[in-house]
Amino acid sequence: MTDIDCWAARATDWNGDPSDTYNFCLNAMWYPDTSSHVSNTGSSDGGIQTQGGGGGGTAWNGRGTLTAGNTGLSYVNLSASGQSVDDLKNGLDLLTVNIADDCLTWLTTNLPTSTSFGDYVANLKIGTFDAVITTNTQYYVGAGASAGDAGFDILFGPNTPGGISGFYIYIHEIAHLLNAPGFQNNDGQVNPDGSLTATASQRQSDNASLIEQKCGSTIGR
Ligand SMILES: [Zn+2]
Repeated sequence: MTDIDCWAARATDWNGDPSDTYNFCLNAMWYPDTSSHVSNTGSSDGGIQTQGGGGGGTAWNGRGTLTAGNTGLSYVNLSASGQSVDDLKNGLDLLTVNIADDCLTWLTTNLPTSTSFGDYVANLKIGTFDAVITTNTQYYVGAGASAGDAGFDILFGPNTPGGISGFYIYIHEIAHLLNAPGFQNNDGQVNPDGSLTATASQRQSDNASLIEQKCGSTIGR
């Protein structure tokens, strides 16, 4: 259940640049070697895209610590602690007290009634990473988020917002973990060059629509 999720249409929600209406992954991605912001050079299909155009990708240069995930992806500088992790845990906690009833009912359909949503979220193992690369080719594929990988419940990429701005992302990853009705897994599978497969791209789109439908008021839409 590994998903590197990108939320193309959401970029304006947290980076403040109205021209960035797609591709959360690249807009959120900072190369660990240069800390330079990666600008989009590919097509705006809303999926994970590689730097350089034409699907050529950009090779990881070996800096940082690499942790292999479950399905051919590896994380750069995985961490279970620090300010970013604390901020995201606070954001998740904020979600538990602000989630609307319709969203909560859908999201927790498969959560045992003996467990409260607040307790469930509080016990999630949260981590952060700087980038994701393909384990085999070692090309950057993005920096979104993932559920159920590398021993963590949720892993967040750099610049994932805390607080209300992050609700959409939190809900997406929790929907994976709890198998929310209609929510599709395997929506982050990538081709060898790091681009999102057509199937995964469609699933991301379907999942986004479902969150809009079930949790629109919670995410402020
Ligand atoms: Zn996903």
